[in-house]
This record gives sequence, C-alpha cells and structure tokens, in this order.
Amino acid sequence: MLVAPPQVRLPARDAVDRALAELDRRLGGSKVDTSEAARSAHAVDDSEAIGCVPDVVVHASSRDDVALTLEIAERHGVPVTPRAGGTGRTGGAVPVAGGVVLASQGMNRIVEIDRQNLVAVVQPGLVTANLHEAVEAEGLFYPPDPNSLKTCMLGGNVAENAGGPRAFKYGVTREYVLGLETCLMGGRVLRSGKRTIKGVTGYDVTALLVGSEGTLGVFTEITLRLVPNPTEVATVLALFHDVRAAADAVRRVVAARLVPRCLELMDASTLGAIRAQGVAIDPRAGAMLLVEIDGGGVDDLLERLGAALTEGGTTLDVVAAQDASQRARLWEARRMLSPATRKLAKYKLSEDIVVPRSKLVDLLTEVDRIGERTGVRHLTYGHAGDGNLHVNFLWNDEAERPAVDLAIDGLMRATIALGGTLTGEHGVGVMKAQYLPLEQSAELIGVQQDLKRVFDPSGLLNPGKIFPTGHGAC
Ligand SMILES: Cc1cc2nc3c(=O)[nH]c(=O)nc-3n(C[C@H](O)[C@H](O)[C@H](O)COP(=O)(O)OP(=O)(O)OC[C@H]3O[C@@H](n4cnc5c(N)ncnc54)[C@H](O)[C@@H]3O)c2cc1C
Repeated sequence: MLVAPPQVRLPARDAVDRALAELDRRLGGSKVDTSEAARSAHAVDDSEAIGCVPDVVVHASSRDDVALTLEIAERHGVPVTPRAGGTGRTGGAVPVAGGVVLASQGMNRIVEIDRQNLVAVVQPGLVTANLHEAVEAEGLFYPPDPNSLKTCMLGGNVAENAGGPRAFKYGVTREYVLGLETCLMGGRVLRSGKRTIKGVTGYDVTALLVGSEGTLGVFTEITLRLVPNPTEVATVLALFHDVRAAADAVRRVVAARLVPRCLELMDASTLGAIRAQGVAIDPRAGAMLLVEIDGGGVDDLLERLGAALTEGGTTLDVVAAQDASQRARLWEARRMLSPATRKLAKYKLSEDIVVPRSKLVDLLTEVDRIGERTGVRHLTYGHAGDGNLHVNFLWNDEAERPAVDLAIDGLMRATIALGGTLTGEHGVGVMKAQYLPLEQSAELIGVQQDLKRVFDPSGLLNPGKIFPTGHGAC
C-alpha cells in the first residue's frame, strides 16, 4: 500500500449521518452495510494505492437502487465510489474521500443473449468469465479477456476500457460496447448508444463513458456486441535466449502480415517466477512468446507463424500445444503471472505503458538502463503485440521507495519520448494521476475537467481520480 491518497474534500460527519439515515430508510437495511468488515473489505483494490475506509457500503441490486443512492448522496453532499470486482490496478475503486462505496456485485445477470443480432445485454456486476462461458455455449464470442477475468466484472471492464491478450486481433472493451444505461449523480438515468452495428446519431456519449473510470456515471446495464466463436484455435510457445530476440520476433510476425489473436512476451525474471511455480521451462530460455492464432486455415497460419518466429536463427524452440487441455495449461501459467511475480519481493508495482510496436526493443533497453541507474529490480511481461508491456518494479525495503519513484518517473518519461502512452488498459486512477501532464496538454486536461463538471457538477462521483491533485492522508 504505497501511493498516498489525493487531497480531496471529505464530507462533514453530520452530512454522512443524514445520508446514512435516508439510505437506510429508503433502500432497506439489508443493502446498507456499515459493518467494520464490509467497510474494510471495500477500502482497497488490487493496486498499491493506500486504502481508505468508506462510511458505508451500499449493495445495489437494481438500477433503482443505484439511482436512489446517487440522489441521496448528491442531496447530502456525500461522495460515491462505484465498485465492481475490485481488481483494478490503479486505485480507481478506492474511496479516497470516504462516503459511499456503491457495489454492483448483486447486479450480475445476463439480461439477454440475442443470437440473431449478435448482442448481449448484461448487468455491471457480471463476472467477465461468466459472460464468456454463456456466449460460447451459444457458439458466440466476447473477445475482451483481461487476465483477471475470473474475478473482474463487466462494469469495471467498461469503466477501465479493459484490454487483455486478445486485443491484438480483436481490440479492447470499447470496440464491443454498443450502448449503456448510466445513472448520474443526483439520480438521473441516461440511456446512450444503440443495439445496431451502425448508428451515428448525435455525439458518441457511450464512447466517452467507456474508460471514464467511474468518474462520470454509474453503469447499470451494458449492451455488448458479440462475434461468432472462431472454430479453430492454435497456441504456440517460442523460446529465446533473451528478451530482445523475442521482441524482434514480434516485429517479424507483424511484418509477415500475420494477425495472431494474442502475442504475449515474458522476460527472464518472469520465466524465473513461472519456474518457481513448478512449471518446467528449458533452462537456456531467457524469454518466451506465447502466440495464439484463430480463424479458418489454422494449419497454413501455423506454418507461416513458425517460419516468422524462427527466421534469423535466434529462436531456441517453437512448440505448438497439441490439444485444448495443453492450451488451457499454457494460459493458466500466463494468467498466474501477476500473483506469481508478486511473490518475488515484498513490494511490487506494475506499470502498463504502451509504445509503438516498432519501439519495443528500445523500450526494453531503456528499462534496463533505468534499472541500472536506480538499482531497482524489475521484470517485464505483457501484451507485446499491442506494444503494451507490464513493467514491474520489485523491492523489499521501504527505504528503497525514493529509488522506485525515480524508476517510475524514468519509465513514464521514456515511454512518452518513444511516442507511447502511460496506460494501455489499467487506467489512470490515483496511481498515475500525477503523470498525466507528461502526456496531455493543460488544454486537454482542462476540457476533460469541463466534461466532468457537466456530468457531475458537485464533483462527488469518484473524486480524486484521473486528474492530478496534491496528496493527503486518509
Ligand atoms: C491478476 C490481474 C490481472 C489483470 N489483467 C488485466 C488485463 O489483462 N487487462 C486489463 O485491462 N486489466 C487487467 N487487470 C486490471 C483489472 O482487472 C481491470 O482494470 C478490470 O477491468 C477491473 O474490473 P473490476 O470489476 O475489478 O473493477 P473495479 O476494480 O471494481 O473498478 C475499476 C473502476 O471501475 C469503476 N466502476 C466499477 N463499477 C462501475 C460501474 N458500474 N459504473 C461505472 N464505473 C464503475 C470503479 O469506480 C473503478 O474506477 C488485471 C488485474 C489483476 C488483479
């Protein structure tokens, strides 16, 4: 727990008490939880942001519950932080101003799967893996697959515009959100978007809401585009002596005009963490690519992929998974990376910067330089096909923290200098807010703050997120 909470206005105690009494009376006691256990459980997310205990957790089970909570909170001047699965990596669901945590886990229904129009309508508390399972049973496919898919929820995915390994071919959550039902502070309900593939009526408010990190409104229903489930899928592992050779193979795959659905890279330290979990990997390997292709004619694609991976003679080995269970095992190893690497040190901070694919090798060189300059241990893995890498800094002693701050600062500056962006999928939250001006002009930040005021004039919805503020104590 590292990053101090931003400086935000805390609600007056008597305002909170009045809001609590009204929430209790109008929503019913079973939905309004002020127990120590519930409040503590909703104080943190899966990031290093310092936790803040809210005054109350409201367990919404319907749109009306959400709208009513926002109406009551606005009237009494009490802040609200929306929350879904709590797996966010940038402190987005941490209630830095106290007040209400609005939890949507109880809104977890699939409202509809429309096979004819390839549309699903879901509630925000639906676990992402449950949507995958349900649509795949119908021969359909919802491509976004954050590695947290067994615990994160669609509301959080839409709010963060989540990506995942399959983004290289299929894009991120935004590409699949057709429409939203959103409750605004004060309790107004806004329906935006459409159920059709085409539709350009008015401003694209839905696109603005996707990725708004819970700061503009609270989603209560999400209409998603589906695609047919690809019939053939093949997964390939390629091993290399070092990470630069692996990054160069990514370049060759793209140059060969192949579009794998996933192109994941892991460096030597990451492989060490996987080996420590009991997974046998060729000891000569200092980097690995996990590549997945799908669609028709997979055999031909596999041949071309093998040729692109091995060209240049720097590849140690290329192995294709033989069946579905081998594929599943490979992905299980990939998905456990975050928890496995967390065991390597007392503290781990994971960045998710993006650079143009052609700059991957430059970025990796820069990361090594930063490590040497600051003495901070690091490892890198991630969605190399998208140029989106999770650079992780590891340390054991609080005294190393200033060096870690220098390393993060260096990484952010190097990313921007290489033409990249600060976050590819985790959002800004509180963790990256101070770096926003490195990437965006004062004008652009100002326009976004103006938009925030339109949706939430009193600034009560998820305050302290995205935009830089000072830091205070919780
Ligand atoms: C092990 C691990 C692996 C991960 N892998 C990936 C990955 O591959 N790709 C990726 O993109 N991310 C990944 N993440 C990050 C995280 O899972 C995603 O950001 C995810 O989308 C967050 O969803 P959540 O349901 O947990 O949201 P939460 O953490 O609960 O909330 C995230 C944000 O959404 C807002 N929010 C929640 N519900 C609503 C709502 N109903 N309306 C409006 N705003 C709302 C919150 O206020 C907060 O700002 C990973 C995290 C972990 C721990």
